Amino acid sequence: MSYSQQIFEELSSRYPYQPEFLQAVQEVLVTLQPALDKNPAYQKHKILERITVPERSFQFKVEWLDDKGEIQVNRGYRIQFNSAIGPYKGGLRFHPTVNESVLKFLGFEQIFKNSLTGTPIGGAKGGADFDPKGKSDNEIMRFCQAFMVQLHRYIGATIDVPAGDIGVGGREIGYLYGAFKRLTTSYEGVLTGKGLTYGGSLARTEATGYGTVYFAQEMLKTRGESLEGKACAVSGAGNVAIYCCQKLKQIGAIPVTVSDSRGMIYDKNGIDVEILQQVKEVERASLTRYAELVPTAKYTPVSEYAQGRNNVWSVPCYAAFPCATQNELNLEDAKCLLANGCKCVAEGANMPSSIEAINAFLASGIAYGPAKAANAGGVATSQLEMEQNAGMCSWTFDEVDSKLHQIMVNIHNNAYQTSIEFGDKGNLVLGANIAGFRKVADTMIAQGVI
Ligand code: GLU
Repeated sequence: MSYSQQIFEELSSRYPYQPEFLQAVQEVLVTLQPALDKNPAYQKHKILERITVPERSFQFKVEWLDDKGEIQVNRGYRIQFNSAIGPYKGGLRFHPTVNESVLKFLGFEQIFKNSLTGTPIGGAKGGADFDPKGKSDNEIMRFCQAFMVQLHRYIGATIDVPAGDIGVGGREIGYLYGAFKRLTTSYEGVLTGKGLTYGGSLARTEATGYGTVYFAQEMLKTRGESLEGKACAVSGAGNVAIYCCQKLKQIGAIPVTVSDSRGMIYDKNGIDVEILQQVKEVERASLTRYAELVPTAKYTPVSEYAQGRNNVWSVPCYAAFPCATQNELNLEDAKCLLANGCKCVAEGANMPSSIEAINAFLASGIAYGPAKAANAGGVATSQLEMEQNAGMCSWTFDEVDSKLHQIMVNIHNNAYQTSIEFGDKGNLVLGANIAGFRKVADTMIAQGVI
């Protein structure tokens, strides 16, 4: 049994109740074996045993009062996975499905993603099983404050810098920042995704979606193709999906779908991004509202989806951008995309494709950009925000956007060249995993064991 298989078996028997974590680990370990064979120091220094265990992990109780004055209780978490190359960095997710397995999968992936950005940030993730849906603004504020009463003990600008993820956007970061400041009397770059008046960076909001499109462009360039004039299927309707659609339109591509937890929109003329922003960012309404405002849009509720399928992936498209959540694209969806002539998949969400779907994409030879590489623009721009905070300055939108663009070009190049080095040209899963891993593993060896 190979070293990577042996470690995976051990983890599987230790954590049978953490399926998402095991899935994320499996996807990485399978592709690392050639790098482990090439450099026996990794096994000698027990890097896989060490990198799969979080350095520190906190679970805490969050008690808060809802608008009726009733006490509510949630579980909060922060998983500080790896700090070899820099302070812990990664988002906070507020969603009812949040548990230790989900956050360990996200934190584990964040190690490699952050390493790939080429910037000095370690990997972490956190959040709570709190459901922001239907909560009033005051309830959101009280929850964020109660969450920070616990979290502030563990974070700091050079220790651990959380940010947003599903359910945590600019509004939540504002309340979290205000609470941190009051609790610690410290005004520091402890969170990213902040508002522009208190240390936020221009282009951070757009960065994940824009970066995913820049990454797709790089993949297609190596094949002499482009997105211009092409239909693109996008899933999700949150921050990543909105700015993915916006960038696609800017470069002359046509985003034809978006989706939320209740249904999807299809419009062959292209999504109207301003209306989508109005519905999702201002009104915080469902996509049925978008269909009311845009007469050419066709709305399909989840109840009418074909069984076991996400209907977004049944729409004929040249490129697919899964920007919703984990495991939103299964083998059947992948087969349907390929049968409809899809030539490019770039993942804006974290782990949106199942392992079987990934294997189908790789076997088909289409341009497939795994999340760790394709969506790294968000966290990379968070690091640019940290840089601006440290220098007490702010850069223009164009400065940040052009740095982001260059980072995405570099990530693609690094993953692509690594795929060539290991004899599997264009396999960016292998390329990204090995490139991200090597930097962290070499650093762990250099720093020794205490
Ligand atoms: N949640 C985002 C991610 O998955 C961004 C994290 C950050 O900016 O720290 O990478």
